[in-house]
Amino acid sequence: MLPVHPSQGNKMAQNTVTVFWFRRDLRLEDNAGLYHALHSGAPVLPLFIFDLEILDKLRDRSDRRVAFIHIALQRLHHVLKNHGSTLLVKIGRPLEIWQKLLSEYSVGQVYTNEDYEPDAIRRDEQVGALLQSHGIPFHSSKDQVIFARHQVVKENGAPYTVYTPYKNKWLSHLTPEDIAPCNSQDHLQGMLFQVTSPLPPLSGIGFKENNAVFSEPLLDEQRIRIYHQQRDIPAVAGTSRLSEHLRFGTVSIRHLVRQAREWNQIWLQELIWREFFSQILYHFPQVVDQPFKKAYAAVPWREDKTEFNRWCEGQTGYPIVDAGMRELNQTGFMHNRVRMITASFLCKHLLLPWLWGERYFAEKLLDYDLASNNGNWQWAAGCGCDAAPYFRVFNPDLQTQKFDPQRRYIKRWVPEVDTAAYPKPMVNHTAARIRAISTYRQALADKKT
Ligand SMILES: Cc1cc2nc3c(=O)[nH]c(=O)nc-3n(C[C@H](O)[C@H](O)[C@H](O)COP(=O)(O)OP(=O)(O)OC[C@H]3O[C@@H](n4cnc5c(N)ncnc54)[C@H](O)[C@@H]3O)c2cc1C
Repeated sequence: MLPVHPSQGNKMAQNTVTVFWFRRDLRLEDNAGLYHALHSGAPVLPLFIFDLEILDKLRDRSDRRVAFIHIALQRLHHVLKNHGSTLLVKIGRPLEIWQKLLSEYSVGQVYTNEDYEPDAIRRDEQVGALLQSHGIPFHSSKDQVIFARHQVVKENGAPYTVYTPYKNKWLSHLTPEDIAPCNSQDHLQGMLFQVTSPLPPLSGIGFKENNAVFSEPLLDEQRIRIYHQQRDIPAVAGTSRLSEHLRFGTVSIRHLVRQAREWNQIWLQELIWREFFSQILYHFPQVVDQPFKKAYAAVPWREDKTEFNRWCEGQTGYPIVDAGMRELNQTGFMHNRVRMITASFLCKHLLLPWLWGERYFAEKLLDYDLASNNGNWQWAAGCGCDAAPYFRVFNPDLQTQKFDPQRRYIKRWVPEVDTAAYPKPMVNHTAARIRAISTYRQALADKKT
């Protein structure tokens, strides 16, 4: 097939193409939707849309997620080029982009992978309706999780809202077919639409490039085998560090689950937590801005912006909390144990709205995932499904003694910790604990009466 520049319009050539639309699945290997697209019988045009509905809401023009996506796209582009094709990258609102694409190309079918977030579901409904009005089938595959939607539910069809029975059912459901690889990468040769289209630089959409945000998705067998011994020690590289790759689909969940089953059941359970929260968001989309347990809406959060800013900046005077917030601000990552401590500190010690904390993490985390972030924040605030009870208040000093006894993690992020330059604790732990428990108790009691 001869190369055709998109501006010449392949309508001229009257070639019907299958479009594969990449979203949070930025890889060529083991990609379910891409695999099906490559078997559709027509040459495949790979597409990515920089969605302005999302980008316009980002305040930081150096946003790490955008830089990460751009690098992932460069990698796709490079391999596709070796196959005589490229990635067609568009910038705009998906519906408008699709309207334009349909006038530029003779599109026979569209393939993609499912996305379960409320906004993504709405977007896909709109694009699906547009395609349907042109008689174009829109196929969506499950790729981001092992089990989605209603695949793991109770006997009566209701969704699980407690993790352990969900996990047990998930494990009992799992068959080798669920984690079999889709060898999409083996079918690229000769199956791609021959197109040349440059990858636009990030400056074109007003964002900055940052090569430091992307490290290869490497699954370290030794680390995973001893995961259960090291996962709670923030000073040690004891966890997989694959969350951003899972978020953007630069690694396959089927591959990870196959290895997890072999190497470490505890690590497998973490991957199942991710699916648990994904199905919670799917079945209960109201959790985006409301507590899962409705009674907790009555907690009178203290809307104190000055205290919130101190928490954001890592200036609370609690070294483990400040270390976590500074790690987040400087790198876009925070160790899970410290995420739990900082989140608990915001909701309980400071009694600030959990949604403020959730939104702050959402702005900063490279691995930000609505379902996981929201589910974990609700857990920390006590208002989520299967949450920590409201009267459990993490003691930052005891957490430090247990998980960072030599204060290696603290000293890495708060070098001035033992000097006069470091602030005094902004609240007294014992007093803050009593205030949190009595405020929660009162709010929940009032709700009952
Ligand atoms: C307040 C708070 C907010 C969080 N926000 C996010 C978020 O936005 N995105 C996100 O991916 N994780 C979030 N987590 C979960 C967890 O902290 C990260 O997944 C983990 O730290 C990522 O590091 P890792 O890849 O080395 O994880 P590992 O420990 O190696 O775990 C492997 C994978 O399992 C999944 N996982 C692990 N723990 C959890 C969990 N508690 N909930 C859901 N999935 C889990 C992740 O996909 C992770 O990459 C949050 C946790 C808390 C307490």
